[in-house]
Amino acid sequence: MEKMTKSEAEKLVRSIKRTCRGPRDADAARLSRKNLRTELRSIARSFSVQVDELDGPELEDLAGELRAASGSPDYTASAHALARHGMETIQLLLALETVTGQALAGRDFKAAAAEKIAKLVETGNRGLARKLDDATRAACGADVNGIILSTPLDGEGRVGTCPRCGQEFRYTPPEIEIAGG
Ligand SMILES: [Zn+2]
Repeated sequence: MEKMTKSEAEKLVRSIKRTCRGPRDADAARLSRKNLRTELRSIARSFSVQVDELDGPELEDLAGELRAASGSPDYTASAHALARHGMETIQLLLALETVTGQALAGRDFKAAAAEKIAKLVETGNRGLARKLDDATRAACGADVNGIILSTPLDGEGRVGTCPRCGQEFRYTPPEIEIAGG
């Protein structure tokens, strides 16, 4: 077990800068969907692709165009990067629409989001899972290090509650022996 003073231990925990990721929220998911569509319309304009509704066929056309652009030597490096970003944005939009679609059909929103995120992690899409997790939460960002520091630094996993939004979060404090304490 590491031995340090109380203030050193506090500094160590705070250096991780752990913040609350916010509660799962259907309205936040709808806003994310709107923002992703706006972003995709702007990306489409950069590649001179006309999009209007950005539904099924239009989204497929755009994906095809971006795929071609990302592999074509006719484009600059920044255009290649934008095309790749566009393809990732389409993937995120489709994953988000799966969740919002299930919720519209009467399924519990939190359960639908959790299942889709777990499925993405299982299939090795950790980056996309993380983005979908963010896109289905209301932003909070409260500093929760005070909560972590209010419990023993004993390496035992616990569940804390965000003081701002009430969202529960899991954490494992480092195992530290406080010198002289
Ligand atoms: Zn919070």
